[in-house]
Amino acid sequence: MKTKLLLLTATLVFAITTKAQNRNQDSLQKESAKTELWEPVPKMVTPGTNVGEAPSDAIVIFYGKNVDQLQKENGGAVGWKIDDDGALTVVKGSGNVATKQKFGNCQLHIEWRQPSTIAGSSQTRGNSGIFFMGKYELQVLDSYNNPTYVNGQAGSIYKQHIPLVNASRKPGEWQTYDVIFTAPKFNADGSLQSPARITVLHNGILVQNNVEIKGNTEWIGQPKYTKVGDKEPIVLQDHGRDGGQPMSYRNIWIREL
Ligand code: MG
Repeated sequence: MKTKLLLLTATLVFAITTKAQNRNQDSLQKESAKTELWEPVPKMVTPGTNVGEAPSDAIVIFYGKNVDQLQKENGGAVGWKIDDDGALTVVKGSGNVATKQKFGNCQLHIEWRQPSTIAGSSQTRGNSGIFFMGKYELQVLDSYNNPTYVNGQAGSIYKQHIPLVNASRKPGEWQTYDVIFTAPKFNADGSLQSPARITVLHNGILVQNNVEIKGNTEWIGQPKYTKVGDKEPIVLQDHGRDGGQPMSYRNIWIREL
């Protein structure tokens, strides 16, 4: 009899506790719902099959077949050549190459390879560069065992920001840059409203973390801003006949942000 009573009491206590817990859970869920957002629903984007491949919403600039999306920086046919392996290789002295389409805020994926034949040193070993809006250079250089000024090595924002680490692969191996670029804004009178910013992953490793770009990248003198449009071409550098071997690009795609 005593055991039965105990059992009954225990069951009753359990039932009351469970009901209280459920009520408590309901009220927690109601509280939680106050900070849930259900829209806008992010659109579906299909990732590339393999890492580094263009997703479904990317603008493909170069994928080994043709240079239809590119032109010489100041207009005219691209002077660089497409190799049998689908690489776009600089023809030194033929001039910079620019995207026909203009871009402001964007995500860029680009792959590049330094020549396995080493020639030149410091800034003349595989020098190229990616100029956002034609003005702000993310340096491309063979920085594998190639000392140079550190604000001019691969992964630097030329003469403005030293990369956080040197993530370079050996000459002859393909390397990647994945970049988030925020365009500068200008007032109507041409003065700067807000500077450009850039985040760079070199071979998947963070080398620039949302740094502020100080103005047009300059070889000589301090950077300063000159007004550009909301969107401008992205330019790839031909460093000219500097004694180095020509380097190559492939798999270039952009997502507008
Ligand atoms: Mg350069």
